[in-house]
Amino acid sequence: MNEDIKEVLYSKEDISRISHKIGLQLTADYKDKNPLVICVLKGAFLFMADIVREIQTYVEIDFMDVSSYGDETVSSGEVKIIKDLDVPAEGRDIIIIEDIIDTGKTLQCLVELFKHRKANSVKICTLLTKPERRVAGIEPDYVGFEVPNEFVVGYGLDYKGRYRNLPYVGILKPEIYENN
Ligand code: 5GP
Ligand code: MG
Ligand code: MG
Repeated sequence: MNEDIKEVLYSKEDISRISHKIGLQLTADYKDKNPLVICVLKGAFLFMADIVREIQTYVEIDFMDVSSYGDETVSSGEVKIIKDLDVPAEGRDIIIIEDIIDTGKTLQCLVELFKHRKANSVKICTLLTKPERRVAGIEPDYVGFEVPNEFVVGYGLDYKGRYRNLPYVGILKPEIYENN
């Protein structure tokens, strides 16, 4: 598995450090707000687990599964809800936890959805961002790291369901997806 990685970008320790820092900010920003923290499955599952353990105030946690990519490496721009929230978004202060913002289309759809459902506020917290690729006019409020315009995997991020368990974020060797 490790041999499929061209370059390690961020180690477990890097991610742990940034999660602690973001957790401090979230704790300050959401004290007494009882935010609804939403993990966008599946890519954000590890980062979500890190982040919520760094938030030192009451939070509620829920999960959503949306799909925009399938097995491909380019965004379709359409978001299909595979699993919706278990609780109403109305009146809630929402923190969306994402693995990566690429074009921004997925998050734009989600933010619009929660606004339509009358959330009180919607903020975005993402482990990774690829600013070069942005098309949608959406920017994260809390960001781990910027990544170059290459396909990255690990720490929750997959290629065809694999590599989510890598304990770091790395660039996948292009021959892995070019030959498939
Ligand atoms: P967007 O709608 O912002 O273009 O795409 C967001 C989703 O595309 C992410 O949540 C992620 O699932 C997938 N994605 C975008 N770039 C990458 C990447 O470099 N690696 C992986 N594994 N997934 C990506
Ligand atoms: Mg995602
Ligand atoms: Mg994926």
